[in-house]
Parts: sequence; C-alpha cells; structure tokens
Amino acid sequence: MPKITENQVLLKMMKIGICGSDIHVFHGKHPFVTYPLTQGHEVSAEVAAVGSNVKKFRVGQKVTVRPQIVCGECYPCTHGSYNLCEKLKVIGFQATGTASRYFAAEQENVIALPDEMSFDEGALIEPLAVAVHAIKKARDITGKKVVVLGAGPIGNLVAQTAKGMGAEKVMITDIADWRLKKARECGIDICINTAENNLGDAILANFGPDKADVIYDCAGTNTSMGQAIKYARKGSTIILIAVFAGPATVDLATLNDHELDLGTSMMYLEEDYLDAVKLAQAKKVSLLPLISKNFPFTEYQKAYEFIEESKEKCMKVLIDVQR
Ligand SMILES: [Zn+2]
Ligand SMILES: [Zn+2]
Repeated sequence: MPKITENQVLLKMMKIGICGSDIHVFHGKHPFVTYPLTQGHEVSAEVAAVGSNVKKFRVGQKVTVRPQIVCGECYPCTHGSYNLCEKLKVIGFQATGTASRYFAAEQENVIALPDEMSFDEGALIEPLAVAVHAIKKARDITGKKVVVLGAGPIGNLVAQTAKGMGAEKVMITDIADWRLKKARECGIDICINTAENNLGDAILANFGPDKADVIYDCAGTNTSMGQAIKYARKGSTIILIAVFAGPATVDLATLNDHELDLGTSMMYLEEDYLDAVKLAQAKKVSLLPLISKNFPFTEYQKAYEFIEESKEKCMKVLIDVQR
C-alpha cells in the first residue's frame, strides 16, 4: 500500500486500457523506454484516501489520471503547452505506471469522472483526450468537412470527436472492414475501405468539389500521409497524430505548392481531459463499442498476447485491476 503525501490522492485502480505504445515496450521496440518498468497510463480508479491539502476530491469518487509529470519551468511549461515539457515524464513510460492495485497520484494529475460513468468508459478518457486535443489543433471544427485516415481506436475517437464538436461531415477510412464496421457502430456515417476504393474519388463523391477542410492522419505511414497530401484541397489542413516508425518519404513539393497546413498533435492538456469527460457525459461520443475484452490483473501478459493474435479484430483491451 503506497503512502501518500499531503498533496497526493490514493487511488484504488479499477481499469487500465492497453495501447499500442505499451505493446511496443513489451516487444522492446519503444524508442525511449525499456523494461523493467511498471506500465499503465489509461486508467479509471476510485479515490481511497486523500492527503491533508486535497480539497477537490473525496473518498469513493470516480476519477482518472492525466499521466504527465512536467517541470513547470521550461519554455513550453511557462507558455501553456506543458504537454510539450522539455523534461516530460509520462506515467507508465518514463515514470512508474498505474498497474498496481493502489497508486499514489499527485492531485494535479487527478481528473474527476461523473458518478454515472462506468469504469470501462473512464479508462477511455485518456485516448479521448488525445482526440480532443487533435481536433482543437485544427482550430474551430464547427461546420468543417473532415477525413480521418485510419480507423483504429485513436482514428475512431478522432472521427467521433470531430462529429461531437460540430463538424458538418466526417469520413473515416481503413483497409480493414471490421474497424470500419466499428466506426459505423459509433455513428460515423461515411466509412470507406481504401483497399477497394480510391480515396480521392470517395472524397469528391461524399464532400463535392471543395473536398475536405481537415484531414487527420491516424495511420502514420507513407501511404496515409501521401494520400492526405495528394487528395487535400489546396490550402487545407492536415494533422498528423499517428507516430511514424521512421523518417517519412512524402511529397513536400505538393505540400508546399498547395500551401497545405501540416500540423501535429501530441498528447493533451487538462482542459482537453475536461472536454473529453463532457463529450462522453453528453453521449456525443460512444466509448463502450470500442472495448473488445477485459482481462484480470493476473493475466496482464495474456492481454498483450490476445491483442497480438487478434490485431485487426480488436480495439481496446482493458485490465480489470481488482479482479
Ligand atoms: Zn496510450
Ligand atoms: Zn517543462
């Protein structure tokens, strides 16, 4: 049982979501992090105790954790972009993760969840906050036509968030029908398999000659970024969210000639978490269809193996920490 300081909250961990970066660590392929390490950064929990300075939270309350430890002193930190802290440590990567029955969190990292939200949904607020941050990077999404390349968990949530925050039309693409079916289940109307359909034709057919205002690359391959640049309207915006495996080979001449705005999005701020909670609470996004399976805490490795075996037929796997 961890001891808490006066500014910490003791959390009884309930659910932990597993994401692609966790699996990279598992295989020794993460660029910055290796075992031994305690993982776990997509979480829901119940407050078990609070330090003497903690007024915002009460015992028994449902919460999640924003897994960023920042210095508070560098340029990004002092200019409102602490997600880009020069000394950023992410809980579950460069700092001890939450994969334990109890976890001591600094109160500034704890985010309240509504009582009616399930712990399963609560564990998906972290990836939803990734999507919220990415949508805000395109400035005001209201009334925009949006294409999301890649229908994995992040692509799915970006598409749902675009719609939830007021986009006029949202198209999502993938080469796996199963993922597109999931997107449809989550309310995305235009789901295109780009192994069978030309993306440029699909954009024209669904959005008309003005094409898309914003294209999100949630696949992170030369193919996806190449398509984004090729089929974007002149002067439109492309935002990269996925992590490229290495240096990219893409058509920068066209990017420049068409004056495309290429932006990026990395993690989130506290306000993105708060907006993510609001979106989920207002049912503007649906999180439960994304959960493929729960595993008990003692079968952590089996959960990783399950994800490996069921690659294209699996969205989010959760660890049920108290089971
Ligand atoms: Zn993650
Ligand atoms: Zn900093």
